[in-house]
Amino acid sequence: MINWNEILQRSNGQNLPPDQRVEKTPEQWKQELDEETFYVTRQKGTEHPFSSSMCGLFKPGLYRCACCGTPLFNANEKFDSGTGWPSFTQPVADNAVDYIGDASHGMQRIETTCSSCDAHLGHVFPDGPPPTGLRYCINAVSLKRDGDD
Ligand SMILES: [Zn+2]
Repeated sequence: MINWNEILQRSNGQNLPPDQRVEKTPEQWKQELDEETFYVTRQKGTEHPFSSSMCGLFKPGLYRCACCGTPLFNANEKFDSGTGWPSFTQPVADNAVDYIGDASHGMQRIETTCSSCDAHLGHVFPDGPPPTGLRYCINAVSLKRDGDD
């Protein structure tokens, strides 16, 4: 099971190879995605907290990357963090998410991206509930729920 030390290690250039790679130019992504999804996923933006009803949604289901459709998180690992962003204790597969050190905005954080297409998802923090003690704080627009189109 993934833990914070492992994440720190991976963020040091040791991410696992993904099952598949999806590579497109910024222009191609801009054509395929709506404006906010493009801003958050391809330009590392952050949506406003509590901007999505996805935060309070806990019915079973799979959350995929909004850009490339790769499964990223399972509703079983979703919890109510009270932050206003969808929050998970772990990704659906060990190699689904990449970890990158992020020193922007005067903070030392670990950014999470889709390992298949490099979409910005959000950040991960070591203050989550069991079993991992991790909190994956993810922008709702970076995710697409199966069955919710
Ligand atoms: Zn992706």
